[in-house]
Amino acid sequence: MSFKCPVCKKEWNASLQVARHMFGTGDKPHKAWVDSQGLSFIDLMIEQATTPGNKSYVTLAEIIEKAQDKL
Ligand SMILES: [Zn+2]
Repeated sequence: MSFKCPVCKKEWNASLQVARHMFGTGDKPHKAWVDSQGLSFIDLMIEQATTPGNKSYVTLAEIIEKAQDKL
């Protein structure tokens, strides 16, 4: 099982890695995709930077998993 980035189609073994990639890339197309899923890229980034753990990554990873069959 592999997970694709819904924007640039790069693949990883875990959805969490895709989430990390999306935050790490953070360019316009990746931000726009997150926002189009009813999330706020900026809010997730702020939450990740200001709270312990990796809740933002997990939230985004779940959305990425749901999007896989549409890719
Ligand atoms: Zn990507």
